Amino acid sequence: QWGQLKQNLLASVGKNNFKNWIEPLELSYIADGVVTFAVPTVFLGNYVSQNFGDLILYHVNSLAPDVRRIQFQTAANTTATPKPEPKAAEPEPVAATADENQVPTAPLDARFTFDSFVVGKPNELAHAAAKRVAEGGPVTFNPLFLYGGVGLGKTHLMHAIAWELKTRRPDLNVVYLSAEQFMYRFVQALRDRKMMDFKEMFRSVDVLMVDDVQFIAGKDSTQEEFFHTFNALVDQNKQIIISADRAPGEIQNLEERIKSRLQCGLVVDLHPTDYELRLGILQTKTDQFFRQYPDLKMADGVLEFLAHRISTNVRVLEGALTRLFAFASLVGHEITLELTQDCLADVLRASERKISVEEIQRQVSDHYNIRLSDMIGPKRLRNFARPRQVAMYLCKQMTSRSLPEIGRRFGGRDHTTVMHGVKRIEELRTQDAQIAEDLELLRRTLEG
Ligand code: ADP
Ligand code: MG
Repeated sequence: QWGQLKQNLLASVGKNNFKNWIEPLELSYIADGVVTFAVPTVFLGNYVSQNFGDLILYHVNSLAPDVRRIQFQTAANTTATPKPEPKAAEPEPVAATADENQVPTAPLDARFTFDSFVVGKPNELAHAAAKRVAEGGPVTFNPLFLYGGVGLGKTHLMHAIAWELKTRRPDLNVVYLSAEQFMYRFVQALRDRKMMDFKEMFRSVDVLMVDDVQFIAGKDSTQEEFFHTFNALVDQNKQIIISADRAPGEIQNLEERIKSRLQCGLVVDLHPTDYELRLGILQTKTDQFFRQYPDLKMADGVLEFLAHRISTNVRVLEGALTRLFAFASLVGHEITLELTQDCLADVLRASERKISVEEIQRQVSDHYNIRLSDMIGPKRLRNFARPRQVAMYLCKQMTSRSLPEIGRRFGGRDHTTVMHGVKRIEELRTQDAQIAEDLELLRRTLEG
């Protein structure tokens, strides 16, 4: 099957890329849903993984659907074991460090790079901050705290930082861990009476990333240790990057001193995707799928339909597209709107709980203590105008209504008025902490 895989890859990357990057790979083994390729150098491994990783995985999946991940190992590490011993410990991927005294970093997903991250309004700040940190220059904000709802790209951005640092600053010891893994290591050290080693280990870290830090809320001794590790690294001017599903101040059962420490650096949030970003992501992913299924065709309007109708969660969006392509290739049919509706009926139904314009208007007028009639009415007083703009902005973000439709529901206003309002709030969101907080709160309430 390696032969077939190579054929498919040749077809999709072209002769030159194939010769430079794919040809040197050797398939070493497949175990537990992980395909390992031997590469002559770490550099080549990283390059291929960053630039062709997802493509290779797609092609692997079309031949072997069970494979979840691919990894690259330098030949030196693999020649000794062409076949893994039965149930041998999983070999360290290139991403991981083998040295005993170093903190073992969790494997990085080859698909999560900056190249594959689509930037739009809702994530541009987080993206810019991540890019800055990934330059590996002097530490300017510490920690970088990324937060946002599930499936909005936090893990993707963190992996992207790690990948980029690997090429730009191979001298740095970059460690990526989920908060769960941090806790696991800590508990293990406690149990084995190896706390000194544990502490020592983290001293050698240059960049520490801890994903989903909300996980340690309520876990007191882990929090305590995290706090010490955190402080020690900050004191040494080492970069720390943290992610969580909500802002530091809103994580319950997290010690106050930790909360305030987490807020010292730069706190940026990933907003739920809006229509434009969803469409952008769908287009990018579709292009990738067409490389995998070059014979398929897609009717106009399918992506727009999906961007309107499916959730703000990018993972759900990707899942839907994967299914759609698999289904279409199975039945050998063009991807039409009908096929989409058939194939994704359940997903579409699940994301049906649409937030209505009326609901938003009601919540916003409650929040600002004004009457609904004043929000919709003609008065231009600032007291009414600002909440009105907030509501328009939320309608644009959270519903699939077009600007003219929104205008109509706000007492027959023109779509340019709506556009102006939305723009204004977008600006204020970054300049005015109060507005940002209002928006966050309203969004949370509306999403229920
Ligand atoms: P989180 O950690 O915030 O829950 P992930 O980073 O795991 O979310 O993202 C979920 C999925 O969506 C991943 O497959 C990721 O690659 C994809 N994704 C999220 N945001 C983007 C984006 N802006 N561009 C491309 N893919 C994205
Ligand atoms: Mg995540």
